[in-house]
Amino acid sequence: MEQCKTSPMKNEAARIRRIFMLLKEHYPRARTGLRFENPYQLFVAVLLSAQTTDEQVNRITAPLFAAVPTVAAMAKMKAAELEPYLKSCGLYRNKSRYLVEASRMIMGEFGGALPDKFEDLTRLPGIGRKSANVILYAAFGKPALAVDTHVYRVSRRLGLSAAEDTAGVESDLKKALSPGEWGPAHHRLIAHGRALCRARRPDCARCFLKSCCPWKE
Ligand code: SF4
Repeated sequence: MEQCKTSPMKNEAARIRRIFMLLKEHYPRARTGLRFENPYQLFVAVLLSAQTTDEQVNRITAPLFAAVPTVAAMAKMKAAELEPYLKSCGLYRNKSRYLVEASRMIMGEFGGALPDKFEDLTRLPGIGRKSANVILYAAFGKPALAVDTHVYRVSRRLGLSAAEDTAGVESDLKKALSPGEWGPAHHRLIAHGRALCRARRPDCARCFLKSCCPWKE
């Protein structure tokens, strides 16, 4: 794999282009680890994924989707009936309640179809800015860039943003990339955050972005 050679950096735009080119080269097929077959299933999986790994969410959703296969079925559930399915998931009581309330809202206000607009998605209980962006890109193929803990950390270390909140990092990344690159960039920054640029002890010695990364421990 080619290393980042933009040193000394000719200009900031070239450095950023180089970073995303190398991320694409190293993580060409990065995508969500959540298993889903339709927008309803992704909505459920994303809502469950707060403070829970993708693998754990997948273990929960396999039996859950068999028992509660549609948003209409979910809207008829009581939160207490969902809890046994979600028990191994962090915050399972809140998540059970959110799933039922959000499904009832989807049935009542959106005709039973998961909405595909950011403003509508973020009105659903349990769906914040990050989750709405994940759904927009992964379920509907719309340009969106979700900033989770990995995207936030890696972007700041790489000097792609100095913003102190996720909305600011999202805004900076969107300005640096074309809309068609937003979703893939999200997945590649996550992949890099898991593989090398980990929260604790990032593996800078092995990192292919080392020569264009300003971060110092
Ligand atoms: S050089 Fe280190 S801090 Fe910079 S992106 Fe690579 S792993 Fe992260």
